[in-house]
Amino acid sequence: MTGRAPEREGSESVDVERALRRARGLRLFEALERVYDQFPETQCDNCARCCFESPGVFFVEHLRLLEWVAQMDEPGRAAILRRATAELFFSWIDPGRACVFLESGRCTVYDLRPLACRLFGLVAPEDRDRAETEARLAARQEASRLRMLGIEVPKAVIERSLASCDRVRDRAGRPVRVDADALASRIARLDEQLIPRMTVLDEFCFRSFPERIGAASLGREVVDGRRLQLLRRAQRGEPMDDLVESAAQEIAQARVLPRRKVGR
Ligand code: SF4
Ligand code: SF4
Repeated sequence: MTGRAPEREGSESVDVERALRRARGLRLFEALERVYDQFPETQCDNCARCCFESPGVFFVEHLRLLEWVAQMDEPGRAAILRRATAELFFSWIDPGRACVFLESGRCTVYDLRPLACRLFGLVAPEDRDRAETEARLAARQEASRLRMLGIEVPKAVIERSLASCDRVRDRAGRPVRVDADALASRIARLDEQLIPRMTVLDEFCFRSFPERIGAASLGREVVDGRRLQLLRRAQRGEPMDDLVESAAQEIAQARVLPRRKVGR
């Protein structure tokens, strides 16, 4: 992993390999596992509708996913990077998008899946309804903003802002509730051992794997500008696959994915 440009703010300015070593030295991944262990065993329809986009992750969760990617072979790593690039730049015009870790309807990181995925379907109905309303409102606002910039967002993309599911049950078939705030606070405290507290509060679990990869490779402002350019080119008819491929190559050059498990 290369060093990070000092002018960039946020966790993307952190040397990720050093952060990985620190996380292992402090046994933060084990501590993260203990938070996940607070969840009861659940069952659902396994329809993967909630995997329609990559979830927001805490920094320590991002590191753990990076470590998993680092152990993949080169074609596997390239595929993850292509999917992350596609989501980063084209999610607003592609109703067929899905989480970068979803393959053939299955989660490839199920044991490592982040808090946001584990919470799905486990929050109280009033919180669930509020989250769904907020998600749809945010999607409509972003669609309006993009329309003013000449980019048409398909209705199907806005409607996919699914924020809830009532089909998750415990093994006895009963609804399950957990204290999401308490669990999130515990993971935020792990992040505080890796990045400054203000950065933790600023980022919390609001950034997805693709967003963190994009910010670490190009910087957040470049990503925002590049997204508009690429969306316009795609809507003018340039093949999206070609645009994704060249953007993924640019991100790959920044070597944001560790190539192997780094030394302890
Ligand atoms: S939590 Fe709900 S949306 Fe997600 S896979 Fe299970 S049934 Fe489908
Ligand atoms: S990490 Fe797994 S469970 Fe979570 S959204 Fe992605 S595919 Fe679905």
